[in-house]
Amino acid sequence: MSNFDALLASVPTGLWIDGTESDAAAGGRFDVQDPATGQVLTSVADATEQDATRALDSACRVQRDWAATPPRRRAEILRAAWQLVTDRAEDFALLMTLEMGKALPESRNEVAYGAEFLRWFSEEAPRIQGRYTTSPSGSGRILVTKAPVGPCLAITPWNFPLAMGTRKIGPALAAGCTMIVKPASSTPLTMQLLAQVFADAGLPGGVLSVLPTSNAGAVSGPLMADPRLRKVTFTGSTGVGRRLIEQSAPQVLRVSMELGGNAPFIVFDDADVDAAVDGAVAAKMRNGGEACTAANRLIVANAVREQFTVKLTERIAAMVVGPGYEEGTQVGPLIDAQQRSSVAELVDEAVAAGARVRTGGAVIDGPGYYYQPTVLDNVPAGSRIVAEEIFGPVAAITGFDTEDEAIAAANSTEFGLAAYIYTQSLDRSLRVADALESGMVGVNRGVISDPAAPFGGVKQSGLGSEGGTEGIEEYLETKYVALPI
Ligand code: NAD
Repeated sequence: MSNFDALLASVPTGLWIDGTESDAAAGGRFDVQDPATGQVLTSVADATEQDATRALDSACRVQRDWAATPPRRRAEILRAAWQLVTDRAEDFALLMTLEMGKALPESRNEVAYGAEFLRWFSEEAPRIQGRYTTSPSGSGRILVTKAPVGPCLAITPWNFPLAMGTRKIGPALAAGCTMIVKPASSTPLTMQLLAQVFADAGLPGGVLSVLPTSNAGAVSGPLMADPRLRKVTFTGSTGVGRRLIEQSAPQVLRVSMELGGNAPFIVFDDADVDAAVDGAVAAKMRNGGEACTAANRLIVANAVREQFTVKLTERIAAMVVGPGYEEGTQVGPLIDAQQRSSVAELVDEAVAAGARVRTGGAVIDGPGYYYQPTVLDNVPAGSRIVAEEIFGPVAAITGFDTEDEAIAAANSTEFGLAAYIYTQSLDRSLRVADALESGMVGVNRGVISDPAAPFGGVKQSGLGSEGGTEGIEEYLETKYVALPI
């Protein structure tokens, strides 16, 4: 048995409900593919409405007890889960590379990053606080308390199979909420292994359920229509997010939405160009470009544009493409054939409209869903490639002359998740960071995500924050008790 087979054999492939594995009520299963080869890795149970209801029944049964569990105990379980994920870091990393395709070193980084949400929120659980004051009018006293929102549904994407789950599970469990996770159908295995880890960490049955399904709506629809569910937290595309916001209206559910991005990466003429190239490689090529924070538009001062483009092209052209689990791979396959076609279409359209290919620009033949690491410059301002999320290893460069022009270009999108600026001027950093319509700004940094910082978008990139001290608030209700003098 290869170590891939041994690992896959150790991952639960049933539904995870009430602290244990089971078949789907309707008996269905669906396949999980390796995007590096297109081959089937394994199959998992396919949840439908009946399973969703069973998961919510079990969540509701334990919700009150979990909320009443001392915060210190909730913290200990989260901390134990962090330890177990850390102990099994290689298994989690390889599993993510197998089902999602990213290069193994990137998976290892994600394990450390994703696990950290469990440790961070284990430390936040005992610090949930209220307030007690005298009313300024002198008419009474004000007691403010915090209570868990209640049973939550989390819907996660395929691009960060662990971290997009732990960013929700960590704060929910810390706050005293129960949670049902519906992982992306292309990458359910990582969440299945995490469910097992939580059981091993001592989490009571029912607090966390994992429902893989090939039909997301069949699970999320009935759950969101059930008045017992109190919140939906979603990471994924803006289109699906919008639909979930609509569906949350009848029950007036709390919603947290981490949606699409279209990050500008602005290089000013006073930037350290080498540092900007390093940052651009990280911000663009991390996760093969399949990140919501990926630099989607490289907006470079005309004074340094050619210098920057030459250096970036040299770095991107030298990147090693291959299966994520092969030694030396820097860029793995895209998640599936559809994603690869969508990247190819964006590039082909931009080139037809006048963009120049500096390197790459084509699909790589053979099994697996590979696309050449690509740099385009002279990208026409109205191209779809700068208006939409590329979600692939393609850097699209445009130029500018003045700071105002750069800010206007950066803000000319309905998205507002991450933005990056490279400049050696502190004044300019702060001025431009203020002017950018985005939830997060990296200054002379190509990687900004940090479990201790609030991650979230403005405009059509979403609602709410994950991580930081802000993250747990998304899972807490505020209650006011009026007291006499
Ligand atoms: P997606 O919206 O297609 O799917 C996300 C999740 O929603 C999956 O679990 C999917 O099965 C589920 N889903 C799809 N249709 C649904 C429906 N009708 N009802 C309920 N659930 C449904 O997104 P994706 O392709 O998995 O992920 C890529 C997108 O996620 C990109 O737009 C990216 O920017 C975004 N993303 C955002 C963040 C962030 O924090 N803002 C992080 C990672 C990814």
